[in-house]
Amino acid sequence: KALLDYIEKKDPQVKAFLKVTSEEALAQAEEADKLRQKGEDRPLLGVPIAIKDNICTRGITTTCASKMLENFVPPFDATVIIKLKEAGAVILGKTNLDEFAMGSSTENSAFFPTHNPWDLERVPGGSSGGSAAAVAAGFCAAALGSDTGGSIRQPASFCGVVGLKPTYGRVSRYGLVAFASSLDQIGPLTRSVKDAALVLQVIAGKDEKDSTSVPEEVPDYLKALEMDLSGAAIGLPEEYFGEGLSGEVRTRIEEAIKVFEEMGIKVKKIRLPHTPYAVAAYYIIAPAEASSNLARYDGVKYGLRVEGKDLIDMYKKTRSQGFGPEVKRRIMIGTYALSAGYYDAYYKKASQVRTLIARDFTEAFKEVDFVIGPASPTPAFKIGERVSDPLAMYLSDIYTISVNLAGIVGLTIPCGFTDKGLPVGLQIMGPHFSESKVLALGHQFE
Ligand code: GLN
Repeated sequence: KALLDYIEKKDPQVKAFLKVTSEEALAQAEEADKLRQKGEDRPLLGVPIAIKDNICTRGITTTCASKMLENFVPPFDATVIIKLKEAGAVILGKTNLDEFAMGSSTENSAFFPTHNPWDLERVPGGSSGGSAAAVAAGFCAAALGSDTGGSIRQPASFCGVVGLKPTYGRVSRYGLVAFASSLDQIGPLTRSVKDAALVLQVIAGKDEKDSTSVPEEVPDYLKALEMDLSGAAIGLPEEYFGEGLSGEVRTRIEEAIKVFEEMGIKVKKIRLPHTPYAVAAYYIIAPAEASSNLARYDGVKYGLRVEGKDLIDMYKKTRSQGFGPEVKRRIMIGTYALSAGYYDAYYKKASQVRTLIARDFTEAFKEVDFVIGPASPTPAFKIGERVSDPLAMYLSDIYTISVNLAGIVGLTIPCGFTDKGLPVGLQIMGPHFSESKVLALGHQFE
């Protein structure tokens, strides 16, 4: 009740939520209370959690911040939601995002932008900006986000919270509205690394309903937080500290590196030579997959329908009115890249580059246990500053995208503030299924 009151008072400024499910939340909280009185304990019993609005919740609208799905009420829960409910969590509502998770500032929401709680004139990052802002504002103990090219880690960095992109396949994507299926992954945003470990513990694991989820055993992430990391080595990729990195971010990261050294961790300079091609490869692969995934919004199966004089006219009107400019841009880029005659030049080439980027990490992890760098080249920027320049917007993902292309683990943790009081995030990257170790390093740094 206290949280719901607080959200009612403060969210009109932050605008983190698209929908607050007060009634359901109170019922779940009462249920949790009863269970506790009976002496039962569950990992998240009574813990208030917010959910990015591209994750399906049974009986509760799941809009993807799009006019296309404004009134879509899923008849089923995503696997992660079932798992959260089983663990006793209380779901507070659905958070704002860039339409269909396409963006880096939450300004592409069809409904309204979210504001950064640290400075209301600035963006919270994106696309999980609502989730990051909700955690930073203290509206919830944790939130779920999705990360296709940085959408958990970049907003975590802008909002001064913890954000984890697990290994591709670690968490079921069943019920996550697909953007780019070979890159999408659900993960937690929290105020501490320990909380992220707790949420991951609950949502991770093989799911029969997602054939890309991996049967790998789920370790005890909480226990692993205290593992001995002395003698471990971190690599600093030259490519992550070059031109384009703002001075204030660089300074905070360099200070953090000193802390790692004091912890007895070896620091090495490394190279990830294909990094300069990551953004280009991503902006072929992600739109290509998106153009295919978003073909389902045709006014027939579900979502918006705008009547037309015949079937084709109905498709055209529905898709013209249902999608916002960024989504249309991606569909056009993707369709073009996949067209006959262009496939080899674009999609195939981008896939080859993707392999080279993944190989860079494989080579690096032969030398070091972790790769460390900034999560974003700048702190949170002003609302409106980059809306008319898609390329400038795309560049905010320069340090996060490679992790998705390689399918590895990426964790953002706060590492201080700029002179203006804006949070700066540090990113820890680790090999596939290294969540335990990455979380341990983050926790011990905290
Ligand atoms: N900002 C990136 C994009 O616009 C990443 C989005 C995401 O991770 N969902 O595609």
